[in-house]
Amino acid sequence: MKVFIGNNSPETHIVQQLLTAEGVECEVRGEGVFGLRGEVPFDEDTLPYVWLLDEDQHVIAKAIIREWQQQANNQGLLPEWTCHECNEINEAQFGACWNCQTPAPPR
Ligand SMILES: [Zn+2]
Repeated sequence: MKVFIGNNSPETHIVQQLLTAEGVECEVRGEGVFGLRGEVPFDEDTLPYVWLLDEDQHVIAKAIIREWQQQANNQGLLPEWTCHECNEINEAQFGACWNCQTPAPPR
């Protein structure tokens, strides 16, 4: 089932990685339409989305996404975090290091 529809690919991948880091089995789908030429209408059907592989996890998946969206809305208030594996600086809303995929430390 669809649990999240992104406005763009990077955002969708952030959510997918966040869910995966929390043990939710999911994958990004729907990106292929961006590669099509022609008159694909730009609406929800053409946006990439996160597909939940185990529907039993949809409650926790929704909770994680809601928390992430709240954090994204408040991201100006949240500090960036530094990856303890590779020392890269990550933006507050990233659930995992963009460089090495290490999950963010608990906040
Ligand atoms: Zn890292």
